[in-house]
Amino acid sequence: MRTARRDFLAAGLASVGAALLAGHRSAGAAAAARAVVIGAGFGGATAAKYIRNLSDGTIDVVLVERERKFVSCPMSNLVIGGSLQLSDITLSYDGLEKWGVRRVRSEAVSIDPAARRVELGGGASLPYDRLILSPGIDFIWEQVPSLKSPEAQAKVPHAWKAGPQTIALRRQLEAMPDGGVFVLHIPKMPYRCAPAPYERACQVASYFSARKPRSKVIVLDANDDVQAEKALFTAAWSERYEGRVEYRPNSELVDVDPKTLTARLDFDDVKADVLNVIPPQYAGAIARRLGMANANARFCQVDFLTYESTAQPNIHVLGDAIQTAPLMAKAAQMANRQARVCAAAVVALLSGQEVNPSPELDNACFSYINSREAARLASVHRYDDALKTMVVVPGSIEVSSVATTRDGVAAQAWARALWADALS
Ligand SMILES: Cc1cc2nc3c(=O)[nH]c(=O)nc-3n(C[C@H](O)[C@H](O)[C@H](O)COP(=O)(O)OP(=O)(O)OC[C@H]3O[C@@H](n4cnc5c(N)ncnc54)[C@H](O)[C@@H]3O)c2cc1C
Repeated sequence: MRTARRDFLAAGLASVGAALLAGHRSAGAAAAARAVVIGAGFGGATAAKYIRNLSDGTIDVVLVERERKFVSCPMSNLVIGGSLQLSDITLSYDGLEKWGVRRVRSEAVSIDPAARRVELGGGASLPYDRLILSPGIDFIWEQVPSLKSPEAQAKVPHAWKAGPQTIALRRQLEAMPDGGVFVLHIPKMPYRCAPAPYERACQVASYFSARKPRSKVIVLDANDDVQAEKALFTAAWSERYEGRVEYRPNSELVDVDPKTLTARLDFDDVKADVLNVIPPQYAGAIARRLGMANANARFCQVDFLTYESTAQPNIHVLGDAIQTAPLMAKAAQMANRQARVCAAAVVALLSGQEVNPSPELDNACFSYINSREAARLASVHRYDDALKTMVVVPGSIEVSSVATTRDGVAAQAWARALWADALS
């Protein structure tokens, strides 16, 4: 396993070296522009593919990703609920090869904006004409200091980046004796994907109903109310999962005791058998450099026509790392649609064309309340030239108040379509 990882990394870095030697900066060769993309999640993979596609392959694209495989956060709550396996939501990056996207498996560690270079772990560096960052989120461990160590996180998983932690949380639920208590803590907004914690509470309640009928879910929410699809979730908890889910708003976490699995609140200690703390979040580290996290030192402000950072020219930021416009979700389809707008803008900027002055984004998000039934939340967002931000198109918000098997099937098709648009 370790050898394969090293070989892949070495191959990645070797290909960067070869690309640099043969690349656009070599004397005498025709100068092709280069875009470097950091992070092959929903935003980054889509941006890389669309820049190649929209430029007819004339722009060189290098995509840097630290992970070996793509694991989807959307649908990952169903792995925790037990109706999907991690393999069902794990995809390869290989589909990007046909677009001529060059992939490097490495960590981007720093940026030199004057020289327009990204430094990678291991010492290699990549020159760029335009740099696109879609690193997702990092956790603000300073606000939950007891969970900073990997040992503590193994006891109290977040499962807020899909992968090993998703499996770890599922295993803990399986090992929990019937009659146990699952405690889920939700941080104050903004966090990645507003409805997803409430969907998770439903998934665990659904599992308990089927397999551990004496067990209970306690939702400790630092917010004063349910942050998305309130009617859907509160109906599910009071009717379908009556007596099984207890929702406690205004439950801000002060600390955690990982040894005793206790969540410490201002006026209360809540002891769990399985404790799942979703920590507060900010933009992924690479996007917080160079003053780019210029919204409350957490997220990155961008020009919504190009997704260029308002702090650093030639560097674009996408997805969960940005400071969103009002009602613009930190969500997978949103990252994918932002990436398409950004890719078109980058192609225009690198070829001296005009940038689209009125981009529109359509978002859709599905929440499952058990293994089969889901509800849909959708909206359309348009650039407002006077306000210089994205606004919701009046009448475009659709919220289903009941979950149906029809939307459950639609959710699966939605996820497959989104994975395909980003990765193949
Ligand atoms: C439990 C859960 C359920 C969700 N469900 C939904 C849903 O149903 N619908 C929906 O629309 N959204 C959902 N989301 C939200 C969605 O997953 C995110 O909004 C989306 O992943 C954001 O895309 P991104 O490109 O910004 O970041 P990510 O998809 O997280 O991608 C970031 C990538 O960058 C890589 N990376 C970061 N830094 C570096 C670096 N320095 N060097 C190299 N690589 C780096 C990471 O490894 C990662 O692969 C859910 C989220 C969670 C946690």
